[in-house]
Amino acid sequence: MPELRKDPIVGRWVIISTDRAKRPTDFARDGVKLKGGFCPFCYGNESKTPPEIQAYRPNPNGGPPPQRDSPGWTVRVVPNKFPALGIEGSLSRQAEGMFDRMNGVGAHEVIIETPDHSASLATLPPKRIEDVLWTFRDRILDLKKDRRFKYILIFKNHGEAAGASLEHAHSQLIALPILPIYVVEELEGAKQYYIYKERCVFCDVIRQEVAENQDFLTLAPYAPRFPFETWILPKQHESAFENSSSQLFENLAKALKTLLLKADRVLDNPPYNLVIHTSPVQDPTNDHYHWHIEFMPKLTKTAGFEWGTGFYINPTPPEEAAKFLREASVEEPVPATVG
Ligand SMILES: [Zn+2]
Ligand SMILES: [Zn+2]
Ligand SMILES: [Zn+2]
Repeated sequence: MPELRKDPIVGRWVIISTDRAKRPTDFARDGVKLKGGFCPFCYGNESKTPPEIQAYRPNPNGGPPPQRDSPGWTVRVVPNKFPALGIEGSLSRQAEGMFDRMNGVGAHEVIIETPDHSASLATLPPKRIEDVLWTFRDRILDLKKDRRFKYILIFKNHGEAAGASLEHAHSQLIALPILPIYVVEELEGAKQYYIYKERCVFCDVIRQEVAENQDFLTLAPYAPRFPFETWILPKQHESAFENSSSQLFENLAKALKTLLLKADRVLDNPPYNLVIHTSPVQDPTNDHYHWHIEFMPKLTKTAGFEWGTGFYINPTPPEEAAKFLREASVEEPVPATVG
């Protein structure tokens, strides 16, 4: 008998197939493969992107300060060449009869995670992943100063099937003049729960653990929309990503790397989407919302039933997904000793 489960945060129902539960090998495995060709994100092609917004350029030997839009970087942020929203101008929100409109003002940036075309976020050394996370934080703190923006979403599309148009490892940031509906649903649900229980729902959420380290839990949620959907949450309640204390980033990088490697192992380098859900910029500190990363491998297609109802059919019970991920070994090969 399939099971209906209700997400305790947003109240969304999902159908979990239990009798014909799909195992990792049951999904069509179109693993992400690199095609190569010209790439504007590669080392040496810095002039092929719009001028950079920020970059990390380690300069260990002193010497002259590194130049913008030149090689030598480890993480680089550039404006999206085809932005969804434009950075200039005012919102000019106005009514048109019963309708509301405003100018498409926002920021749309690309975070190039590595100069190396063949690397992926999963295969970067933990220190480099940490640099990517610091870059997210830098960009959020900078864009927060712009009072036109209400929300800053960081997300990643990995693989063509997940919507990536360039295969070079990158994430994106969109600063929005409105709150996105999914975030509003989570905020509202979390607030209601808090009013009722005086506890944070994310701190309480029923979970199947995939992994943990000192500061982070990686888990399958109770009512996931997608097979192998996995969340990473800080163990200590914190409402905004960018407010996390600096020592957390090291363990977040490790938690993220472990999850991505486990998914690559179990699901054969799947395409995936990853989002950081954090508090709105004008409400960064509160007791009811808890920032988190949602990782969604692209294994099923969203079709008429989902579009028409907003509820999802998930062919893999989260308990089983968690078990596969938990048991996947991602031991780093021991580096050969030099000499
Ligand atoms: Zn490249
Ligand atoms: Zn919490
Ligand atoms: Zn969320």
